[in-house]
Amino acid sequence: MGYAEVAVNSPVAQRRTFSYSIPSSVDLKVGQAVWVPFGSRVLQGIVFELTDYPAVEETKEVAGVIDPRPVLSPAQMELARWISEYYLAPLFDAAALMLPPGFERKLVTPFHLSPESSTAAVNSLTSEQKQLLNRLRKEGKVTQRAVEKALGRKKARMVLSQLLRKGLVTKSQELEKVKVKPKVLPYLHLAVEAGVAQQEAERLVNKAPRQAALLEFLASKRRPTPLEEAKREAHCASITVKALEDKGLVFTEGVQVLRDPLLHRIFSPVTPPTLTAAQEAALYQIQASLRQPRKDGAAVFLLYGVTGSGKTEVYLRALAEAVALGKRGIVLVPEIALTPQTIERFASRFPHRVAILHSQLSLGEQFDEWQRIREGAFDVVIGPRGAIFAPQPSLGLIIIDEEHEWTYKQEEQSPRYHARKVALKLAELSGAVVVLGSATPDVESFHHAQTGRYHLLQLPQRITRGGVSSLPEIELVDMRQELKAGNRSIFSRSLTKAIAETLAANEQAILFLNRRGTYTFVQCRDCGFVLRCRRCDLPLTYHATEEMLVCHQCNYRRSVPLHCPGCRSKRIKFLGVGTQRVEEEVARIFPGTRLLRWDRDVTRGKNSHQRILDKFLAHQADILIGTQMIAKGLDLPEVTLVGIISADTILHFPEFRAGERTFQLLSQVAGRAGRGSSPGRVIVQTYTPEHYAIAYGAKHDYASLYQQEIVFRQQHGDPPFNRLASLIYTHTNADICQREAKRVYHRLREKVDSEGMNITLIGPCPMFFQKVRGRFRWQIILRGSDPVHLLADLRLPQGWVVDIDPIGLL
Ligand code: ADP
Ligand code: ZN
Ligand code: ZN
Repeated sequence: MGYAEVAVNSPVAQRRTFSYSIPSSVDLKVGQAVWVPFGSRVLQGIVFELTDYPAVEETKEVAGVIDPRPVLSPAQMELARWISEYYLAPLFDAAALMLPPGFERKLVTPFHLSPESSTAAVNSLTSEQKQLLNRLRKEGKVTQRAVEKALGRKKARMVLSQLLRKGLVTKSQELEKVKVKPKVLPYLHLAVEAGVAQQEAERLVNKAPRQAALLEFLASKRRPTPLEEAKREAHCASITVKALEDKGLVFTEGVQVLRDPLLHRIFSPVTPPTLTAAQEAALYQIQASLRQPRKDGAAVFLLYGVTGSGKTEVYLRALAEAVALGKRGIVLVPEIALTPQTIERFASRFPHRVAILHSQLSLGEQFDEWQRIREGAFDVVIGPRGAIFAPQPSLGLIIIDEEHEWTYKQEEQSPRYHARKVALKLAELSGAVVVLGSATPDVESFHHAQTGRYHLLQLPQRITRGGVSSLPEIELVDMRQELKAGNRSIFSRSLTKAIAETLAANEQAILFLNRRGTYTFVQCRDCGFVLRCRRCDLPLTYHATEEMLVCHQCNYRRSVPLHCPGCRSKRIKFLGVGTQRVEEEVARIFPGTRLLRWDRDVTRGKNSHQRILDKFLAHQADILIGTQMIAKGLDLPEVTLVGIISADTILHFPEFRAGERTFQLLSQVAGRAGRGSSPGRVIVQTYTPEHYAIAYGAKHDYASLYQQEIVFRQQHGDPPFNRLASLIYTHTNADICQREAKRVYHRLREKVDSEGMNITLIGPCPMFFQKVRGRFRWQIILRGSDPVHLLADLRLPQGWVVDIDPIGLL
């Protein structure tokens, strides 16, 4: 008899496997999904190993096999183990990243007729037993639940166990069916006017604050909202909705949801262009690597090329080469909705051979897609970070576009993995080649390219189109000088003039500001009181289109008070600039200009991104105003002017990556200019033109930025010279939060000191955003060559979040 080491789907199972004995009737394979008894329940598990001896004396038996085919390949299991160890995540959770969508389902136990039932003497049976046998003859199988429904629980169990004992029926265990989500979503409507709802909300605010919040939210939206979204945004449960329904204030109604049309669009095949010499050189090395089987280590290329230098073309050719060699590829993009043009290029180069993974697919659709990928139906799988776990067979090439993007890090839930790190490990296990591409590589990636861990490939120049190939000129405007000259407008004189010229030439402009809303805070002129979110302590932003104050952290909304809550004064002033204010100002200064805004406030609906982009591409608008959404890989040939309203928005965050991020954002936004036949021009407004990130940004000087950053990093021992781990504890009570943080800090301190570990402990201290959604947040940062080692055998109490190699530290 053999034994299986199984990763069990239970929060208490942690990073280890459990030993189970294998019944002789079962032929178990590594990678198979099974049912196992765990405590008093039967849970899902994955077989990680088959052994001759169990790790413990007493073992239970594997209860059943979920699927005869292994759900994970050996490489995937190895990857799951690595993720579990590296990110300190439960082993099953790590494996779950690679399981088919909707895998985590309940167990059902259907009954079937046994072969004996056809010959058995029926006379001795009760009428209920006969009835059940008849039903089985008709339906093939019947679940216990269905029998219980027909006969009642007690009788059902009796009849079933009698038939089982007589050997007339058999019992099996299987997963309940994948529930294909209906394409109809319930929407929540107000049953009364917005004004009435607002009044009701004020009346209810003390007695039933959740009902008040939901009413306020709906009143502010002014249109029906998906029920789940409304519940999430207003932080309330179904019971709140029910209460308001009973009061006749709201009602729900099903609305048909459309699928993303991008998936069904016809892409016309195109003839690839002749490569430039630089592209040829880069491709040559990737091709050579693809053809060469490797025994150990991954081949990783960093394709460093300015925006518009032809990186995507290199990806396409490399993929074509992989396909020609009988292999397949995975392409990661920061966000599907924001990179429609990139997706289109892949889809038209490999017609019908590209799968696009999309979070907006229903569970059923995701499941179908997963199955087809596993069967090898696609040459290329494209998607955001989770696509790295697609079951792509004979994987030969992994491409990560815009590899510096922060969206590749999972920050919300465990395992908090970085898709780039996972890709490197996967490549090592599968022999695939990795290509990381960026115009502004992550400082850590560039460091690896400098030290030889990655191969550096460069595309130093923009592709020439109509004689223009240079990067756009960047002009820095010192806003302090503008103030001195008496210009208090949000636009410098230079930018105002440039906008006028662009409009006169019938060309297009982009204005970029990394903040939504109209005014970013609201303050009393008399006592200085600033209106803040009660749950996050963050100043509320005024949104003129909705006439609402909004918390950008938790989306709490309220109307603007008539009186200052501090001193009852009526003199309330609005300060700070957001995208809506930029829009208003342009409309005021340049009346009649056709404007488009692209930020989170206008992109909630399905396909809204595509609609805005199409409109702008068709030149149905002159100026596009947006947040970093417009910074991604868009190719907008008629844009000749890019104005950055403020380059300082993220510069002063207390984070060691703030300078690097500012530089990346500047370069990306600037890269939108002059991609067509007319030269581009970029105007950057700042109060700190002397800051290295801004000064180098203005010169497109990544090399200097890198030199500066790497010196800082070395001085402070920040990555890549050390690794970080961030431990976060949150609690609704400030004192408890602080006490727990200090307690764990002392435990860590003791361990570090007693074992003489080379680890710096930073904190414990409140985080920059000290309070989010009503919970206080304290943090301890570990810095050293191997902070995971310290944490691995230290059982952190419940409620702590561990983030290995954190990206954001605020
Ligand atoms: P990146 O990904 O570096 O921003 P792209 O691959 O998107 O650059 O190239 C920029 C533009 O130049 C695109 O419109 C692309 O179609 C075009 N292009 C790329 N390579 C060539 C080439 N070898 N010849 C002509 N046009 C090219
Ligand atoms: Zn006041
Ligand atoms: Zn808030």
